Amino acid sequence: MSVLVVGSVALDSVETPFGKVENVLGGSASYFSIAASLFTDVHVVAAVGNDFPDDHIELLKSKNIDVTGLEKEKNGQTFRWEGKYGYDLGDPDTLGTHLNVLETFDPVIPDEYKDIDYVFLANIDPEVQMKVLDQVNSPKLVACDTMNFWIENKLEELKETLKHIDILIINDSETRELAGEPLITNAARKIMEMGPKTLVCKRGEYGALMFSGDDIFFAPSYPLEEIFDPTGAGDTFAGGFMGYVAGNGSMNPEDFKKGVAYGSVLASFTVEDFSVNRLRNVKQNDLEGRLADFLKLSKI
Ligand code: AMP
Repeated sequence: MSVLVVGSVALDSVETPFGKVENVLGGSASYFSIAASLFTDVHVVAAVGNDFPDDHIELLKSKNIDVTGLEKEKNGQTFRWEGKYGYDLGDPDTLGTHLNVLETFDPVIPDEYKDIDYVFLANIDPEVQMKVLDQVNSPKLVACDTMNFWIENKLEELKETLKHIDILIINDSETRELAGEPLITNAARKIMEMGPKTLVCKRGEYGALMFSGDDIFFAPSYPLEEIFDPTGAGDTFAGGFMGYVAGNGSMNPEDFKKGVAYGSVLASFTVEDFSVNRLRNVKQNDLEGRLADFLKLSKI
């Protein structure tokens, strides 16, 4: 079954200890879609400005990603994000967030997308996420991501969105910040009380935890041989997770666990280069090769 994703499509400027790039393809929906396209059909709803290069749109199309819902606004500039990572390659310092066309983005879901069963609300303004949910017809599964920017700037709107979703996929520091609670298990419980039945908490090189009711599942992260730029790892993880689950038309918690494994493995490709440069070239056999190694990691 296919996935509908709403999120940011961006031009990122990123600096890591290993190099620097300006105005490269980024955005939560971009990484998500390319990752999910390895498993299933993906339909994107997003907005870019008149400065957005056609080559990037062609790249998405070449992955069979449906961009009918990607609006190119004639009188606006694309969303831009600038970030800098230190040697720990953990949370970046955000040097700039220029919402540009996202400031006024009013998503219109094409009629042919309204019955899609799997919906992913990638990192974007929670009010935009809610406007998408208002337009779709009872999807089977809604998953959602967010970040500190929205927790700090639109908490009430975010809490409203959380009431309507099934799975929240966020990182460690966002989990603690959203719950206002330092201990991760307590934070997870508080977040599940806000709405989502399942919380997937990404912990970078320390793996991922999935909380569902009283169950806790842990998966390690793929032991990297190379890390160049962590940008997009979280969105790629979500794309692997949701792509796998939707591709199997599943609602089964065992498949959620496999989704976590695919998400972790795909994120390990993204971090090997800037932007989507490595992710875009991942082939099915690369993915299955790393998955086999990944599964051995915690087999007793
Ligand atoms: P991550 O997977 O968490 O590393 O996400 C990185 C992507 O998030 C970058 O490519 C940015 O363009 C995008 N991004 C950064 N800030 C925001 C924001 N406030 N809203 C939506 N997307 C964002």
